[in-house]
Amino acid sequence: MSAKRIDGKMISQQVRIRVKSEVEKISDRITPGLAAVLVGEDPASRIYVRNKRKKCEEVGIYSEEHPLPESTSEDALLSLIDKLNQDPKIHGILVQLPLPDQIQERRILEAVLPEKDVDGFHYLNVGKLVANEPGFVPCTPLGIIEMLNTLGVEMKGANAVVVGRSNIVGKPAALLLLHRHATVTICHSRTKNLAAVCREADILIAAIGKPQFIKADMVKEGATVIDVGINRLPDGRLVGDVDFEAVQERAGAITPVPGGVGPMTIAMLLSNTLQSAKWTAGLA
Ligand code: NDP
Repeated sequence: MSAKRIDGKMISQQVRIRVKSEVEKISDRITPGLAAVLVGEDPASRIYVRNKRKKCEEVGIYSEEHPLPESTSEDALLSLIDKLNQDPKIHGILVQLPLPDQIQERRILEAVLPEKDVDGFHYLNVGKLVANEPGFVPCTPLGIIEMLNTLGVEMKGANAVVVGRSNIVGKPAALLLLHRHATVTICHSRTKNLAAVCREADILIAAIGKPQFIKADMVKEGATVIDVGINRLPDGRLVGDVDFEAVQERAGAITPVPGGVGPMTIAMLLSNTLQSAKWTAGLA
């Protein structure tokens, strides 16, 4: 049996339509604004930031870009963050990572006001996520939950296995699933019998960064498989962390790469920026 293909493009479009209509609804009170800060010339990051700007325009979110040279000092970046923190037009500040070596990433992330931290990287928001209190949650794991909700996947009581324990994807995804009453196992590079653990999963999240790592014999029949990985093969093809062709014969539902989790990330960033503006205006 071939798995249902989870259409991230379609689900992310639904999120953007929802954001657009809410932005219109509150437009007499506030226009949400997002500032993207990009240090250096990384072409992939530039494309990503440009894409964010286009998507902001489509839903009526004001956006501005702050490209800075690779040689930017930590103090210069901190003073830009300070300006954006105080700017009433801006409700979300996004600092594109990684930052060059002369800048301490954590100092910058902690300098962003928690109420403008739409990426959910500030320790205050990390703590709120752990405590299951309202705050900003990193966009990729939030997008995963949005997908599962849209598909009607039962999280309560489900065995969820998250492979990968990064602060950006694996850990927050595990916490979000836990708060929705899944029984969660987090795996990493030192996990023993990984295949056997994965085979217990009703919901399997792969956030590893290794091309086609999850094979069909690691997947339970009928499982929902969410592939976060984005890997470029030597022949130029883009693939996920899951061996899609083989796994789709076993899974119940599976996200493709590209066109799965990827488009959800920007959609959730827009949603977080809207949320921030609503909190600012006392509308939520
Ligand atoms: P990290 O490199 O920060 O984390 C990778 C995790 O995978 C680590 O916890 C690591 O374990 C674990 N891992 C590595 N090798 C193995 C192994 N052999 N067995 C089990 N676990 C292993 O990556 P990210 O979380 O930042 O990203 C993961 C993937 O998701 C990447 O491909 C990235 O490009 C993609 N990504 C996609 C996004 C999207 O929008 N779709 C957004 C963010 C990321 P350990 O901790 O022990 O080292």
